Amino acid sequence: MNKSYGWAGKLLRVNLTAGKITTEPTSKYKDFIGGMGIGYKVIFDEVPAGTKAFDEANKIVFAVGPLTGSGAPSSSRTNITSLFPSNPYNAVGDSHMGGNFAAQLKYAGYDAIIIEGKSNRPVWLKIDNDKVTLEDASKVWGKGIKDTTAQLASVMGKDSSIAAIGQAGENMVNLSVIMNGLSHSAGGHGGILGSKMLKAIGVRGNRAVNIAGKGRELLKLNNYMMKDLIGANNQHVVPSTPQPWAEFSHKGSRWTAREGLTWGAAEGGPIETGIAAAGDVNRVGYRTMKATFDLGPSAEKYTVRMGGCQSCPIRCMSQLRIPKLEEYGLSPYVANSCMGYFSPQRVMFKGNKDIEEKGDGKMFAAAIGASLADDYGVWCNYGLLGTDLKHGYESGIFKKVLPADEYNSIPWNLLEEKDPAFLIDFYRRIAFKEGELAHLGDGAYWVAKRWDFGDDYWNNVKYGLWSKLGFPKHHSNETNGQVGSLISCMFNRDAQSHTLVNLVGSGLPIEIQKEVVAEIVGSPDGIDPQLNYTPMNEYKARLAKWAIIKNCLHDSLTLCNWMWPMTVSPHKSRNYRGDLALESKFMTVVTGENYTEQSLDLAAERIFTLHRALTVKNMNTVDMRNEHDGMTDWVFDKDPDIKAFTPGTDKMDREDMQVALTMFYKEMGWDEKTGAPTRATLERLGLGDVANQLAKLNLLPA
Ligand code: SF4
Repeated sequence: MNKSYGWAGKLLRVNLTAGKITTEPTSKYKDFIGGMGIGYKVIFDEVPAGTKAFDEANKIVFAVGPLTGSGAPSSSRTNITSLFPSNPYNAVGDSHMGGNFAAQLKYAGYDAIIIEGKSNRPVWLKIDNDKVTLEDASKVWGKGIKDTTAQLASVMGKDSSIAAIGQAGENMVNLSVIMNGLSHSAGGHGGILGSKMLKAIGVRGNRAVNIAGKGRELLKLNNYMMKDLIGANNQHVVPSTPQPWAEFSHKGSRWTAREGLTWGAAEGGPIETGIAAAGDVNRVGYRTMKATFDLGPSAEKYTVRMGGCQSCPIRCMSQLRIPKLEEYGLSPYVANSCMGYFSPQRVMFKGNKDIEEKGDGKMFAAAIGASLADDYGVWCNYGLLGTDLKHGYESGIFKKVLPADEYNSIPWNLLEEKDPAFLIDFYRRIAFKEGELAHLGDGAYWVAKRWDFGDDYWNNVKYGLWSKLGFPKHHSNETNGQVGSLISCMFNRDAQSHTLVNLVGSGLPIEIQKEVVAEIVGSPDGIDPQLNYTPMNEYKARLAKWAIIKNCLHDSLTLCNWMWPMTVSPHKSRNYRGDLALESKFMTVVTGENYTEQSLDLAAERIFTLHRALTVKNMNTVDMRNEHDGMTDWVFDKDPDIKAFTPGTDKMDREDMQVALTMFYKEMGWDEKTGAPTRATLERLGLGDVANQLAKLNLLPA
């Protein structure tokens, strides 16, 4: 076999029914890059129309990218693709996890793992370089993720990475995760592994990724990125507080390092982050002190350090040591980021009582909830798990739909008293599917249908449902009006695209953002000042396409979309311009092939259009406009006395949003009436086989 650069060159296929493990060349997926692209291609080609998420015929693909393990910054994400159980049509979805799993898979010599079939007994997959075996998992079946990880790591060695499911995944809870490294989770696909009786995948590799670039080319590129381009988490490029090195600051920025801010529980004594100025490459790891950003000032004294994924200088994972957690039967150590900490606070919707000192209640609830959810492997559906609990309780619906003895057994008093002990009872019920309440773990669409949540649930802004397909708003209309709204309509779960929000939330003034957008889409009119939105125009449609394409590119390469692309920079000397060709520069150096920004964007457009084709196939309809791309009514009806496009509101206009969809479909080359991909576009993107399969299913637009 020819030496492969970037890509490991082969993927694993594991048939659990037959207990057979084979390898295949990755080359046939090269047009789809890796990660998400490989995942969609496998699911489109190999999973028959009409298959449901937990059917034996469904497959699940763990795939990484050509830059993973190369040393390119923030490149150790794993993309997981399969039918998505909480989606009403079980349409395809992606989940993503950071950690070390992706790099270990590459070091073991694989670009992807395709899991198919179903085992008749609990097993785990052991990948030790070329030695790949299915092992008995009966000793860890029924255990939480922490115990499972510890036991399998003791078998594989501490340099391995273990991706496991908890009890929620085993019990096929729709809202369940796959997690590696104890806290890097991929939401929504845990139940797929449970349905296949695959408890975990352990991987260890000791090979290198081949780099084609000569001399110090890759190092130079890394240094350029670190010194000139990279911001803090979510590509914030200004600090959150005024600092001598910075022209601008913005209080929403995750560039939180400043004088006097410490990791209070660091080993050997507190460590002050100090100012971590742009260009100071030795202090990059201090930029994002997310413990206090996510949990408030009380988290400072419990912070051991900021952790993160292999190859990422931006450490966005808050690792805490909170001795008091032992009184709740939990380890004092907990690590997480963003929603992992926010979600338990949503469950504690009555508020949080302080535990040790004034103002620490929120942090305790977050840490206790994150610890429990991450062990059971429960996913929050971007916070909707808590929202649904609140609605069911406050509306009185639970009193009607839960059997009286079950209702009375739930410690509502703890919730009312704002006591985080409530979380112990709550997550256990969800993970073990105990009683009627556990249907909260089915996901919003199924819950609302089962318990007849009614129109108010869908249409009231306070619940934040974005789509009638059962997923919440996630950087939607508030993020550049129609552009964020369009992005949020296109996937089969909450939009996992941070490309746009990283620019809008970069902290730079709107005047600079407008200049940057003009360079991307040809006009500054592609972006509006926040909460001062104007009617739709073609540049916004282009910007939405740009943002989604870049997201698909990153999930295929597999780079972290919280950091990439390098749209803007922290440096005034660069006029705050980033480098949108940086992905292609890394690809050229790593693979030795000539990539450009345009060639990678074209591949990403192919991948996104394949996602659309898969959605058409899964939903068995071409009418994406009406069946898939709709929004809940509150987006148009909120602020009843205020008209859309009035300064101060992110209210959208129904007719304008239909115009937005039409313009977006046109940009994508999709049918402007239905939003389905046309044969001409599929063929232009090299997806003629996809067009043929859709034609056989009568799923090409007229
Ligand atoms: S920004 Fe956070 S999630 Fe992204 S690669 Fe870095 S540590 Fe991982």
